This record gives sequence, structure tokens and C-alpha cells, in this order.
Amino acid sequence: METTGDFFERIVDVEVTGEEAGPLAERMVDWMVTEGLITRELSNDGVYSLTVDEGHVPGPNWARAVADSSDPAWLPGPVAVIVGRDYHVGGQGADEAEYAVCPRCETKIVIINYPEEFEADEEVWQPFEDGIATWKETGEGSSPCSACGASVPVTEWQWESNFAVGALAFDFWDWPPLSASFCETFSQQLGHRTVEHTGKV
Ligand SMILES: [Zn+2]
Repeated sequence: METTGDFFERIVDVEVTGEEAGPLAERMVDWMVTEGLITRELSNDGVYSLTVDEGHVPGPNWARAVADSSDPAWLPGPVAVIVGRDYHVGGQGADEAEYAVCPRCETKIVIINYPEEFEADEEVWQPFEDGIATWKETGEGSSPCSACGASVPVTEWQWESNFAVGALAFDFWDWPPLSASFCETFSQQLGHRTVEHTGKV
């Protein structure tokens, strides 16, 4: 039985294509193994990621990735690598984005009207959901902006910070908070823009 409650810190590559994601994932694992942050050993202990149920066991130098490793009782869990076009939601609960900002006209399209509502407005969400589903399937998908009418690729909508679409993500299960410098180095290694989430299952 897990007693700590399972939470994750996630880094999503929001620029890599579905085709490049697999090879890039392998290069990132090689890099993290070389750095001693993870090992090649896989475990499913405490891993509840989107499409994979196992991750890499931490390596001897895992503490180099975190902001504070002073608690000797806090040992990190596996790092799951999620390859494939998908959407990722941080936080807890909702499966939809709270809002998205149109990159053409900068209108904020509210999907979940907190704090009055706690569920997505289905009519507003549906075109986004459809666009994401098409992108997942084909690599291209758009949703129309209800304000300016532009058809905007789902990879270009500016999603709220807890929502991201991307083809490669890394879930650090039960790690102490990753340091800002590690996240920056990680993004440089990817060579792409990233979005970071935290959440709980
Ligand atoms: Zn617009």
C-alpha cells in the first residue's frame, strides 16, 4: 500500500512532433542515465501515467535534479516517459482546460467558469476536444476561435498552465520539487519549449 499519496511533477515537450518523439525520448533517457539521475531498470511502483504504467528507477545522482533533498525519508519514485501525441492535465480532477487564449486575437475562451462552475461548458469544449482528437490521430488538428473565427491549430492555442498538448512527456513520480536550473537544462537537452505540471492522483 502506498501511504504517501501519489503525486507527479511533469515536463511536457510542447514542440516535438509525433515522429521525432520516440528517438528524442531515447536520447533523453540516455542522457539522464549518463547523469545518474535515473537507471535503465523499470518499475511500476507508484506509476499512474497516462499511457504507460512503468518508469525508470532513480539513479545515484537523483538529488542533483531537485531543489531540496535534505529530507532523508523522501526518496523519489520512477520516471515515466510518455511518447505519443496526447493532452496532459496537471492538478487534480478536471480533464479539460480551464481556458485557452487565441494566438490570433488574444481572446481568452473560458471553458470552465471557475468559481461559479466546476465543469466544462460542453458546447465551448467540444470544438477543442474534436481538434485535439484529430491532432492525436493525424498530427494536425485545429479548433475555430469563437471570437475572431480563425482556425487555430491545437498546438498553437495558448492553454492555461495546467493543460498542455505534446508528443513527449516525463512524469517524475513522488520526486521532491525539481529545481529551476534542472528544468532549464532539461528543456535545453530537449531543444524545445516545455510546460511543467504538478498533480496528484
Ligand atoms: Zn481569435
